[in-house]
Amino acid sequence: MDGRKPYIAGNWKMNLDRSHALDLIKTIKGRLGDGNDREVAIFAPSVYLADVSAVAQGSPLGIGAQNFHFESEGAYTGETSANMLREVGADRVLIGHSERRHIFREPNDWSGRKVRKALDEALLPILCVGEKLEERQANRTERLLRRQLDAGLCDVQPEEMRRVTIAYEPVWAIGTGEVATPEQAGEAHAFIRKWIHNKLGPEAAELTRILYGGSVKPDNIRGLLAIEDVDGALVGGASLKPDSFIPIIEFDQ
Ligand code: PEP
Repeated sequence: MDGRKPYIAGNWKMNLDRSHALDLIKTIKGRLGDGNDREVAIFAPSVYLADVSAVAQGSPLGIGAQNFHFESEGAYTGETSANMLREVGADRVLIGHSERRHIFREPNDWSGRKVRKALDEALLPILCVGEKLEERQANRTERLLRRQLDAGLCDVQPEEMRRVTIAYEPVWAIGTGEVATPEQAGEAHAFIRKWIHNKLGPEAAELTRILYGGSVKPDNIRGLLAIEDVDGALVGGASLKPDSFIPIIEFDQ
């Protein structure tokens, strides 16, 4: 990981009721330690953010939203602004998750506008990229990743990459129990780091954390983190229960 602090992020998606959400935050907070050797964050449903961030307060646990709108305010029914997220205690946000891209048909160019807005509003973005199965089978993985990186990082300065995280999430591995092989993950992560090197320079490439996402579980976290260029994990299903999430955040370095 070359000095990049490992980052484990839990994405709750549209799961958990309020009382289970608060219990889980209390449990994670109690197991976190000082946060010096790893960064842990939970991306909670927006309606719970005020409550979960109040519980997390005083600990190094990061609290983020799963989505927001890139405009500051206006006639955008059902949307949430960056400033609103900050006001309820979120310090970070997911951008371009595959469920946003594919179920809700979010255009690729929105991710760039969202990354810019997040940085301007002091939210730490995780930009999610990843290919669908048919794109991998057609040997189009790199082309697709390039397109998503070009759009997502189109308006970012090299020094801002300190605040940006990339999550490589092959769509075929999300929620399916199927995990990318070390070779597949290694190749994709190396490609992403090379893209950053070419577009934003060697320093940005060196400091940017690239997370793997897609059926991460307690029994595969160690192997995934051992892959070169994998700096952490974005965890969906396994972040919903202490039994599966605590062993992931307590992985041995
Ligand atoms: C995700 O939600 O980003 C994800 C990777 O989900 P899962 O861990 O359930 O595959």
